[in-house]
Amino acid sequence: MEIEIQEEFDFFVIGGGSGGLAASKEAAQFGVKVGLADFVDPTPIGTKWGLGGTCVNVGCIPKKLMHYAATYGESMEMQRISGWKNVNEEQKTHEWQKLVERVQNNVKKTNFGYKVALRENKVKYFNYYASLVDKNTIKLENKTGVIYVKAKHILISVGGRPNYLPHIDSKLIITSDDLFSLQTPPGKTLIAGGSYIALECAGFLNGLGYDVTVLYRSVLLRGFDQDVAERMQTYMAHHGVKFVQGEIKDVKQLENETKQVVYTNGSSDTFNTVLLAIGRIPNTKKLGLENVGIPVTKSGKIQSDDLDRTTVENIYAIGDAVEGRMELTPLAIKAGRYLARRLYNNENISLDYKIVPTTVFTPIEYSAIGLTEEEAIKTYGSENVWSYVSKFKPLEWVLSDKDNDSRGYCKLIVHNKQNERVLGLHYLGPHAAEVAQGFAVAMQLGATKADFDKTVAIHPSSAEELVLLKQIKGISETDEWLCCG
Ligand code: FAD
Ligand code: NAP
Repeated sequence: MEIEIQEEFDFFVIGGGSGGLAASKEAAQFGVKVGLADFVDPTPIGTKWGLGGTCVNVGCIPKKLMHYAATYGESMEMQRISGWKNVNEEQKTHEWQKLVERVQNNVKKTNFGYKVALRENKVKYFNYYASLVDKNTIKLENKTGVIYVKAKHILISVGGRPNYLPHIDSKLIITSDDLFSLQTPPGKTLIAGGSYIALECAGFLNGLGYDVTVLYRSVLLRGFDQDVAERMQTYMAHHGVKFVQGEIKDVKQLENETKQVVYTNGSSDTFNTVLLAIGRIPNTKKLGLENVGIPVTKSGKIQSDDLDRTTVENIYAIGDAVEGRMELTPLAIKAGRYLARRLYNNENISLDYKIVPTTVFTPIEYSAIGLTEEEAIKTYGSENVWSYVSKFKPLEWVLSDKDNDSRGYCKLIVHNKQNERVLGLHYLGPHAAEVAQGFAVAMQLGATKADFDKTVAIHPSSAEELVLLKQIKGISETDEWLCCG
């Protein structure tokens, strides 16, 4: 059947999230004709959202707003301790609907802002589901019908969606896609999973006053420094989050709005909400990749090279849908911008995936840059690796009664035969993301421990711990807890 082509583009982007939006706007700056399709399938319980992708609708931004909201609750306690009157801890209650309303107002503002930005940048936006017909033809469909467009270059930046459990009725559970717009308070909540999303959601829900249990199947924060991950768990457990090892065997709806959850370890409990945070799957199933011969890996991801090229010469892939990439917004954005600059401005640039700073936004935040201690030892051998460490009590907690479990920790991992080159930096403490961003620049420049030592501390601060490190783990480490230098 002959298909009618509605419009032709130089560059067509499938997916209007972090990576796709960045790539499309950057490409349009260079005068090429750009189109972008974005479409969101509702979740099993019907949650949907607008333009912008995961980060701004159901990821980083609503998550961080809820993280802030939870920490404000704790700051009430700090106000009382530091002499503020009329701060009544006992009467402290949180209004979930109000928080959701404010968070969703921000989401809608962002959706609108992105539409305006596309228009201003002369990127033509299609609120259609896109799939590949051949290497230059894209089928666009929504409830108004089907149209076809053509493009010289195509970018796949379709991201991913939460994983579900095949043996559990998906209407009985929610995921992070539903949580930030949940109309009723979550109540007593079970969170299955042991990584970023599980722990971040556990942290802010517990901080907002809900009873939270984390059900994890093996270790917490696989791939992160396990010494630090365990300290984070201790902190969270001390602040009320329950941790159970196991998986979900069964979920049953009970009459009184609760669900009974049976764990694989044999025990069971009842909850108002069951949240699955067990990883994400790429949106590649209905993309028509088979029509152009782009293979996917076992997990459904697309393989693209350092320059984001797939096996088809004019089709590129970036972001969460690509195999081996860390699923982080700044990486998707940078990859999108760099691709556009390579394609349309002859620039010879590529992304360095080796030193990627990241933060887990639990109530005590954890930032990591470079290698974990486990990875450093595996790569260079334990005889060549030293970990400088400090256990410290942040000054901002000194007035409170927080005990030993409420302390910060940092670790600088160095190669002891290569001029103490810094291999990894880990920081567990308040405002970890703000602390670590600048240190990522130092590591990008190849900093050594001597560079850290030469740096004048900002006193009093928690960040200064990183330029005052003296104790080497397992060699000169003491039980001493430091307080801000
Ligand atoms: P997305 O942003 O997911 O965008 C893909 C878009 O394409 C979506 O809108 C999708 O609906 C659309 N789409 C898919 N298929 C099609 C199709 N066939 N046709 C048309 N449109 C399609 N990262 C951080 O850096 N910091 C954080 O703090 C952080 N927190 C997070 C918290 C949560 C709860 C989650 C889930 C993620 C978080 N992330 C965080 C990860 C971050 O959101 C992602 O790495 C980032 O959004 C990936 O961008 P992307 O462009 O690859 O995909
Ligand atoms: P993830 O990092 O991929 O981790 C998946 C977690 O689910 C692991 O703990 C895993 O346990 C567990 N799991 C997987 N399958 C399971 C099953 N069938 N039953 C029980 N547990 C199972 O996933 P995520 O936390 O959902 O986050 C997805 C990605 O989003 C992250 O990798 C991250 O890149 C991004 N993100 C970033 C931020 C941030 O930057 N602050 C925040 C949120 C999300 P095992 O360890 O046993 O495999």
